[in-house]
Amino acid sequence: MNVDEQVSSYYDLLLKRNAGEPEFHQAVAEVLDSLKVVLEKDPHYGDYGLIQRLCEPERQLIFRVPWVDDDGVVQINRGFRVQFNSALGPYKGGLRFHPSVDLGIIKFLGFEQVFKNSLTGLPIGGGKGGSDFDPKGKSDAEVMRFCQSFMTELHRYIGEYRDVPAGDIGVGGREIGYLFGQFRRLVNRHESGVLTGKGLSWGGSLVRTEATGYGLVYLTQEMLAAHGSSFDGAKVIVSGSGNVAIYAIEKAQELGATVIGFSDSSAWVETPDGVDVELLKEVKEVRRGRVSEYVDNAQGATLHTDGSIWDLACDVALPCATQNELGGEHARKLYENGCHFVAEGANMPSTAEAIEFFREKGVHFAPGKAANAGGVATSALEMQQNASRDSWSFDYTDERLRKIMSNVFTHSAEAAEEYGRPGDYVLGANIAGFKKVADAMLAQGVI
Ligand code: NDP
Repeated sequence: MNVDEQVSSYYDLLLKRNAGEPEFHQAVAEVLDSLKVVLEKDPHYGDYGLIQRLCEPERQLIFRVPWVDDDGVVQINRGFRVQFNSALGPYKGGLRFHPSVDLGIIKFLGFEQVFKNSLTGLPIGGGKGGSDFDPKGKSDAEVMRFCQSFMTELHRYIGEYRDVPAGDIGVGGREIGYLFGQFRRLVNRHESGVLTGKGLSWGGSLVRTEATGYGLVYLTQEMLAAHGSSFDGAKVIVSGSGNVAIYAIEKAQELGATVIGFSDSSAWVETPDGVDVELLKEVKEVRRGRVSEYVDNAQGATLHTDGSIWDLACDVALPCATQNELGGEHARKLYENGCHFVAEGANMPSTAEAIEFFREKGVHFAPGKAANAGGVATSALEMQQNASRDSWSFDYTDERLRKIMSNVFTHSAEAAEEYGRPGDYVLGANIAGFKKVADAMLAQGVI
């Protein structure tokens, strides 16, 4: 069997065994495609069922989450935790609370997390979890009761050396607080290393809130520099207006860029003179409002409920909202309007068609696996601080983050070069992430 046939056989089996999970299929297809050159050069990576084991989570948990709403009505949600791979360290990855969450979405996120965590160079395995619970429009008390019920089941499966969840879409500081409180109560121990993204006075790390957005900008800075460009004077689009987007906007503007647009799921906002980051934080982090409230209070910002944010002419695009938000048509439009750099803050925000188009046209493209690794990397730094009962300064932690992102970029670029496709950061990130996990799995035997 040649390598193409070998990889097709893995993928066909995966489709059969994981029906109805298109996002998981998409994530695996991209990685398998990158691994063909590795299997050609180093066929031993095809031994011992290594690739098939990599694509099969070590454990998948699905559980009922009953809770009582403010009207006294019982609500039932579904909870998930997919513990994908622990060859490099305890499972590590966020929890997502969003109505679209299902097993396939959690599996795609967990799969990506394995490679991303490996790329950071830190000792963390990959996992992901969440629920189809929608925190939007719920009172604090409802969110608290939901989190308590969710943790009542989840606590059996997590721990500092076992599995360390964090935030993702719909899970921020408030939710982590309620989850940690319930965990602490159930186990009767202040085991701070069990969750990351904690408050600063009870085991959290400085820079964790900013880390994914800042890390995205640090990595993009490296990519821009590698191609003779910089953020200074650049026009940048950032989709979304959540945790990742806000801090990507903040750091890009600090480096001299003008962020000309951002969005949420209700609308997008055109900001030709840049974003007032303090106002955006007030609207999104404090009031939990919609982007229209930003426009109501800002100078020179326009709200759009039709068209697409990707229609704006920019130099750099940073998709930071959700999966498959940037399709083939959007990619074409970005390119026609002069955009030559795209880096993913969200997980898999670009469709396969968009990525292929960017590759054909020579648009420099950093995949989420590499570009948004700063969040989990700083979570691992939070774990280090918890283990040593220490807390580091903002500047020290930020500098560690910056170095990690620089290494992620360098390792991805070097792997792309080594396998004959210089500048293909998708290929490079997949291969660099893969090799470290694969070597650990081979060393640890068939388990
Ligand atoms: P938040 O919940 O803080 O923000 C998500 C943002 O994306 C909101 O503006 C939200 O708008 C928008 N959004 C969500 N779903 C959709 C949708 N279906 N269509 C359009 N817009 C949507 O999440 P984060 O910022 O934490 O996460 C954003 C992305 O980054 C996700 O892909 C996540 O997996 C990824 N990521 C996050 C990390 C982190 O540390 N937080 C780490 C690495 C990756 P609205 O409020 O209207 O729903």
